[in-house]
Amino acid sequence: DMTPIRRALISVSDKTGLIDLGRALSERGVELLSTGGSAKALRDAGLTVKDVSEVTGFPEMMDGRVKTLHPKVHGGLLALRGNSEHVAAMEEHGIGPIDLLVVNLYPFEATVAAGADYDTCIENIDIGGPAMIRAAAKNHGDVTVVVDVADYDKLLGDMDQHNGATCPKFRKKLAQIAYARTGAYDAAVSNWMAEAIGVETPRRRAFAGELKQTLRYGENSHQQAAFYTDGSNRPGVATARQLQGKELSYNNINDTDAAFELVAEFDPANGPACAIIKHANPCGVAVGATLVDAYQKAFDCDRTSAFGGIVALNQPLDVETAQKIVEIFTEVVIAPGASDEAIEVFAAKKNLRLLLTEGLPDTRAPITAYKQVAGGMLVQDKDVGYVGMEDLKVVTKKAPSEQEMADLLFAWKVAKHVKSNAIVYVKDGATVGVGAGQMSRLDSANVAAAKAGRMADELGLAESPAKGCAVASDAFFPFADGLLEAAAAGGKCVIQPGGSMRDDEVIKAADEAGLAMVFTGMRHFRH
Ligand code: 5GP
Repeated sequence: DMTPIRRALISVSDKTGLIDLGRALSERGVELLSTGGSAKALRDAGLTVKDVSEVTGFPEMMDGRVKTLHPKVHGGLLALRGNSEHVAAMEEHGIGPIDLLVVNLYPFEATVAAGADYDTCIENIDIGGPAMIRAAAKNHGDVTVVVDVADYDKLLGDMDQHNGATCPKFRKKLAQIAYARTGAYDAAVSNWMAEAIGVETPRRRAFAGELKQTLRYGENSHQQAAFYTDGSNRPGVATARQLQGKELSYNNINDTDAAFELVAEFDPANGPACAIIKHANPCGVAVGATLVDAYQKAFDCDRTSAFGGIVALNQPLDVETAQKIVEIFTEVVIAPGASDEAIEVFAAKKNLRLLLTEGLPDTRAPITAYKQVAGGMLVQDKDVGYVGMEDLKVVTKKAPSEQEMADLLFAWKVAKHVKSNAIVYVKDGATVGVGAGQMSRLDSANVAAAKAGRMADELGLAESPAKGCAVASDAFFPFADGLLEAAAAGGKCVIQPGGSMRDDEVIKAADEAGLAMVFTGMRHFRH
């Protein structure tokens, strides 16, 4: 609908910019309706305003608890202008359309922040404001809703571009902002209440989540914890079906997620893959001719660490793999399905948790990730970055062979899921050394080499499995030392983002060591 805005309802606690907006709307021929304090401010500035109480025929009452909660207001916001029955209802009941709603809410958050007492906080819960905002936002096909002073100028700008109307796309954007505001507002109320009345694990947390499970404790036994689903119903640990085993712990869930997200990087169409996780880092990842082969190769990378690990598969669990897995103690197995025989094999291991899903997590789905910091929250897109063969740039004299290229891309996918600094050694589609979470890239290269040495011991190999391996580094080598360490461990080819000030030095060192190196142009920090 592109009809010019004729009637606006303004009801704002924060009066910033109110007069200018009121004047600008008046000048554009918009009739102003307003609640007590807002109406007074506009009138004092010499503008013509109609009181909402005049429209409703009811006074504002009960300390302002009831001002706008009336069919003459909500009918005017909610009526579909193109629906003849809605229009007839408006006529029959003397309801005038409200084309624009400008509301900002009682300052609940600021009241809490100021340390107000319980009753004062309660009194600052806005009721009519959110009701109007939600009504107007629902009816964004016909109604424009503004909840943020920062959008006043954009509103006027849009109206001026459209002969006093607003464009549908702009109204949709404003509606989205409006629901974000009412959602956050009620979240603030609920979180405040949880604290004020001492609810330990709220059954529902005030984000778009629903309690799935109260956990015995968090990362440590003195931390309370709970597990929430986000309502998206995506395949993953939050929506998995647990067939057997003890209740999942906080760390189980965290590690299972890490394992399943990693293994999902490997398209089942390209063959079976397995990831074994400990403390959110992979202790072994492999692709194989069969699923049991992939599991065995992943297990062999670090048999010691794999004990009590989390196993994720990119294909349904089969009986051969199940039989192999139960040979050692494993905390959790997650897979997109399982055969009846495999389920039977697991049934004998009462404590082993088996989680089944309808599919793999979508590793490219745009998801927002949150991290708590003191006094705030960091928000970012989940790392869905992807590097394919076509994105790679060979920077050394030597180019990787086809097999090396496959191992490089494999190593790169694994490195994305290893805590930084990450150095990953891969041979023949399996990790042979993982260096995770060190404060220097050189140390991570050393850790990966030490792991490869341990693997040789465990398997009784004559030489290090890292000999001839592909090396991935999640971020650029700032100096040549880390690269040379990887070469000394047996690395023959390297994949890394590039972009260091000393790339030239690093490339020269690679050439001198006879390495083939490719740049991805993208890094995968993970902290
Ligand atoms: P004013 O300063 O104009 O008197 O009041 C503006 C505030 O009242 C706005 O924050 C608006 O969200 C809020 N408000 C509007 N209608 C109602 C209502 O019916 N009940 C309550 N509790 N608040 C309302």
